[in-house]
Amino acid sequence: MPKVIIVGAGLVGALNACYFSQLGWDTEVYEYRSDVRELEENSGRVINLTLAGRGRKALEGVGLKDEVVRHGLEITHRLVHYVDETTKAHPIARPGEYLLCIGRRKLNTICLDHAEKFPNVKLFFKHKAQKVDPIDGTVTLTKLETQEKVEVSADLILACDGAFSAIRRSLLYYPRFDYSQTFLEDGYIELRIPEKNGKYAWDPNLAHFFPRGNILLVVFANTESKTFNVTLFAPYTKFEQLDTERKQTSFFKETFPDAFRLLGEENIIQAFKRTKPQPLVSVKCQPYTFNGKVVLMGDAAHAMYPFIGQGMNAGFEDCRLLNECLRQYDFDIAKALDVYSKARPKDAHAINDIALRNYHVLRNTIRGPYYVIRRIIDMKLHSILNSLWIPYPSMVLFSDIPYHKVVEKRIQQDSILFFGMTFIGLVIFAYCIQAIF
Ligand SMILES: Cc1cc2nc3c(=O)[nH]c(=O)nc-3n(C[C@H](O)[C@H](O)[C@H](O)COP(=O)(O)OP(=O)(O)OC[C@H]3O[C@@H](n4cnc5c(N)ncnc54)[C@H](O)[C@@H]3O)c2cc1C
Repeated sequence: MPKVIIVGAGLVGALNACYFSQLGWDTEVYEYRSDVRELEENSGRVINLTLAGRGRKALEGVGLKDEVVRHGLEITHRLVHYVDETTKAHPIARPGEYLLCIGRRKLNTICLDHAEKFPNVKLFFKHKAQKVDPIDGTVTLTKLETQEKVEVSADLILACDGAFSAIRRSLLYYPRFDYSQTFLEDGYIELRIPEKNGKYAWDPNLAHFFPRGNILLVVFANTESKTFNVTLFAPYTKFEQLDTERKQTSFFKETFPDAFRLLGEENIIQAFKRTKPQPLVSVKCQPYTFNGKVVLMGDAAHAMYPFIGQGMNAGFEDCRLLNECLRQYDFDIAKALDVYSKARPKDAHAINDIALRNYHVLRNTIRGPYYVIRRIIDMKLHSILNSLWIPYPSMVLFSDIPYHKVVEKRIQQDSILFFGMTFIGLVIFAYCIQAIF
């Protein structure tokens, strides 16, 4: 059987481990950190994630969809909270569709547990990858406990080591490898709304959004306790201004009064003490494969801003598509990688751009009448025309239409609506003129 090395046991690395262990390949996973399953409940990255259609389809490929869905919360509506404390709910999905909110750690655990059931899988924690040699297919690692350097080789190496991938860094001088990264002017910090009398303080099946111009607060229920995870996105300059406890608490009190009451002053002060704002980075590169041996996947290939909740979903889709290519070309690794690498970057670049576009939508447009009217028209057209008119967010979140085609379809829909509205406008105008004269 061929051997695969997976660098990184995060979400994408762990799902890849499930796919390759099921194929019967000798699978070795090398992870920089300790085993996420042995960490304290609240340690590590606690952000919960929304799993959309693409992610669920990829999990279905390894038989894990139902188990994951059982551990998550179904979200069908977004509740927009205004500064005067009024709220308005908007459907995210068509009837029957939903986003699944699930803890990162839980999802990671389910995938690692599943992969580990196979005898052909070995997981190595506290192993830090330093570089890859795509010519002879070797990865150089440091065993963190002994500082010993080790070299491991395989038929296929999957770099799933995240947005700041060491494997990708070691490939920067590979001929004709294009690479760019862009940081957003915004960063984010996380806070937590505690339980209220042993229950969720708000409806956990809603995605709570607080758009305030260049500031955005997003609240999703945690699935491992009855708390909510709160993410505050704001420009770094804003975070710098919030340099005293009084400024921090008054900012929350004035900008998000309803969230402020649930968070409480002390909670806010501690969150600012505990964390500094985290950066948001977008990575575009190509090709994704090197010498028919190495593949960049997940955030290592296409880290994106989190404003359409597709980073992990796109990474999971990478796993499914690579697996499909391997099967389609009868496990001819070089051929399958060539096909994968030709198709995937344009989709990944498209979702990167969609995520940036949605950043502006969430901060501003979502509050305005254009967004609401457009949503109503889209839903109406969809109910009449069915799959001939799928609203743009639904194509991203609930279909597996390649992302670059989603963009093409959106441009077509915009043009049709523009010309349709202009035509109707002209007809009304002509009718009025006729009526007057
Ligand atoms: C605030 C926020 C909210 C988000 N919300 C969503 C969402 O709702 N839905 C969604 O789909 N996506 C979301 N994302 C994006 C999502 O978190 C990422 O796309 C996803 O984690 C990528 O998975 P990955 O396995 O590629 O990378 P990671 O999850 O970063 O995993 C990489 C792994 O590699 C390990 N590693 C790193 N360096 C090395 C090394 N040198 N050697 C060995 N191992 C190494 C790391 O320890 C880690 O375990 C969000 C992101 C942010 C920041």
